Amino acid sequence: MTDTICDHLTAVTAVKRATRHECAECVRIGGEWVHLRTCQTCGVTLCCDSSPHRHAGAHARTAGHPVIASAEPGEQWLYCYPDDAFVEY
Ligand SMILES: [Zn+2]
Ligand SMILES: [Zn+2]
Ligand SMILES: [Zn+2]
Repeated sequence: MTDTICDHLTAVTAVKRATRHECAECVRIGGEWVHLRTCQTCGVTLCCDSSPHRHAGAHARTAGHPVIASAEPGEQWLYCYPDDAFVEY
């Protein structure tokens, strides 16, 4: 896989890890999720675009927080929504 790196990704110097292994929004509404992502701007953990509610993507758009990290065990990558950029760390 070829990494595509943007300024948002290079700006992440210390990756925020999930503090709770659950989607904060799904817990509130009783929803279910597939995978979890952690916002690298505010640290909230939300569900991925394969999940029914896609809270991480919605958060990136509405809050303007571009970069998420996978919160899945064993996965170490960052993704930038506006640039569709991906990097492993
Ligand atoms: Zn970017
Ligand atoms: Zn969710
Ligand atoms: Zn955020």
